[in-house]
Amino acid sequence: MKLTSIEDARSLILREAFPLPVQRRPLAQTLGLVLAEDVIAPYPLPPFDNAGMDGYAIRARDVADASPEQPVKLAIVDTVAAGQISSHRLRPNEAVRIMTGAPIPEGADAVVQAEATSEQGEYVLVREPVKPGRHIRRAGEDVAAGERALLAGTPLGPAEIGLLASLGQAWVSVHRPPTVAIISTGSELVEVDQPLGPGQVHNSNAYTLRALCQQMGLQPDVLGIVPDDYEATKKLFEQGLAHDVLLTTGGVSVGQFDFVKSVQDELGVERRLWGVAVKPGKPLVFGVRGGTLVFGLPGNPVSSMVSFELFVRPALLRLMGHRRNLRPLYKAVVAEDIANTDNRVFVVRVRAWRENGVWHVSSTGAQGSGILRSMVGANGFIFVPPGVGGVKAGETVDFMLLREDLVEP
Ligand code: AMP
Ligand code: MG
Repeated sequence: MKLTSIEDARSLILREAFPLPVQRRPLAQTLGLVLAEDVIAPYPLPPFDNAGMDGYAIRARDVADASPEQPVKLAIVDTVAAGQISSHRLRPNEAVRIMTGAPIPEGADAVVQAEATSEQGEYVLVREPVKPGRHIRRAGEDVAAGERALLAGTPLGPAEIGLLASLGQAWVSVHRPPTVAIISTGSELVEVDQPLGPGQVHNSNAYTLRALCQQMGLQPDVLGIVPDDYEATKKLFEQGLAHDVLLTTGGVSVGQFDFVKSVQDELGVERRLWGVAVKPGKPLVFGVRGGTLVFGLPGNPVSSMVSFELFVRPALLRLMGHRRNLRPLYKAVVAEDIANTDNRVFVVRVRAWRENGVWHVSSTGAQGSGILRSMVGANGFIFVPPGVGGVKAGETVDFMLLREDLVEP
């Protein structure tokens, strides 16, 4: 097994990943997807001049001399609520009572807020002058008609989706999200709702991988467990290959019953990679068949998660049309010595915190590739390079932030 560096492995994988075709989707089903076309505003936002405050639509020149001592008295000629149109055309010394969001009546050029006024029968007393245009939200001040409101390539978050809703875009063109299949290989595996027999372990990888996909807004097809049997493996892999991405776990090492690579070969998967200079996650296999990206992740629970984070997630993001596909990378100060006598980059699961704007990290404990507890509570990875024996307390390393929600405030 000739080991490829993390960076080379990732670029090798990303070379095979292209944004998937465009699909029209209901707006409510686009969170986290990437816009595939520019959206041109069919009308301005706001669509009409409207009141930015509850108060009175007036003519600014009528109240130019208003003061608390000498308020100006205007006749209230109409009331207009949001969603209504006043049919009144304002004449000198008139006011229209107006609510936030209601269209500005003709003839009015400002809104005086209710707090600067008091009512007296059919009249309003205005106690301060206002400049023309005050508290009027102009048609098009947010987005002009014909303007490119959002550009192709924009990832859709709550604000972008809100803007599209304001523009009446009930259906939106996005890159189709990839379909993902997950298969767990291993004769020792049993489903989570089954009791463990001798030598058996629960199929936890299917759950972590499913959750990792769900975190990205994807709904993978979990195809289940296949025992370490050549024919059975082939049959289930065939099914998995109908997806955009096939994730399998286990069976990629050099054990006597590790069939994944030979089954991939027989099914026509073109191998691009086997072996990455990373700990954990060394035996990762990657290949393509037709349009399907095929990842053979190692079976150890931590290895499969680390491999997903470093290699699968960037590829999925690329398929979704994201231009940015790496988690945020920072420098962090390590709190304790961490040895690395291996010839691979040691990906240590850490608990990270900020002190005066500087990231600090501490190992989550025993770092064996089967020790899932090292991932639990971890909010990031650090990358301890090979060849220098490790890092010493107080030294700085590369740090990848995985879970902002687990960073202590
Ligand atoms: P393998 O990569 O198949 O040699 O498996 C390495 C280790 O990971 C073994 O201890 C397996 O029992 C364990 N393992 C493999 N697949 C899973 C899985 N789906 N869930 C939990 N542990 C697994
Ligand atoms: Mg196995």
